[in-house]
Amino acid sequence: MRLVRCPLCGATNYEHSRCYRCSSWVDLDKKGSLSKAIAFLIAALIFYIPANIYPILKTAQFADTKGSTIIEGVIELWHSGDYPVALIILFASVMIPILKFLILIYLIIAIAKGSCKGVEQKVRLYHLIEVTGPWSLIDVFVVVILVALIHFHSVAIVPGPGATSFALMVLLTLLASKSLDPRLIGEDCGK
Ligand SMILES: [Zn+2]
Repeated sequence: MRLVRCPLCGATNYEHSRCYRCSSWVDLDKKGSLSKAIAFLIAALIFYIPANIYPILKTAQFADTKGSTIIEGVIELWHSGDYPVALIILFASVMIPILKFLILIYLIIAIAKGSCKGVEQKVRLYHLIEVTGPWSLIDVFVVVILVALIHFHSVAIVPGPGATSFALMVLLTLLASKSLDPRLIGEDCGK
């Protein structure tokens, strides 16, 4: 067995094992990490489209079935004067996912190119999406519940296909960031 240095803390370990000191994996799999992250990111981007063009929920009032997309919900809330709620939904469901996509694309390109500029900032950006990751599943419920508030008088409210796509998009973005090994950021830069 070969001895390798832990890429995180520098302790010497046997290869293909977890570090005895910090318990991170000592092997860096750049190709595997990048290709998994890219695959999940592309899948997430694909689901972003139906998440926004299909109704996030459907309301049935009498014989009439009506669906609202995220944007329609935001516009309706805005017109009824719920400005903070409209802005929160717009932020949580439209802007945060786009921001995460951009950060992931930027980090994937930087890792693929082995860029050594602003390594610390990149690690910080990575942790930013890591921190917001599990929380963004809450967006799904916030969006569904808040858009439902507009239709509180309706007989039946069921999640539309947009809600499923939105949940899948959030999950796939989470998997993309989990697949990306942050230790690959600036790994060839000899810290
Ligand atoms: Zn270690």
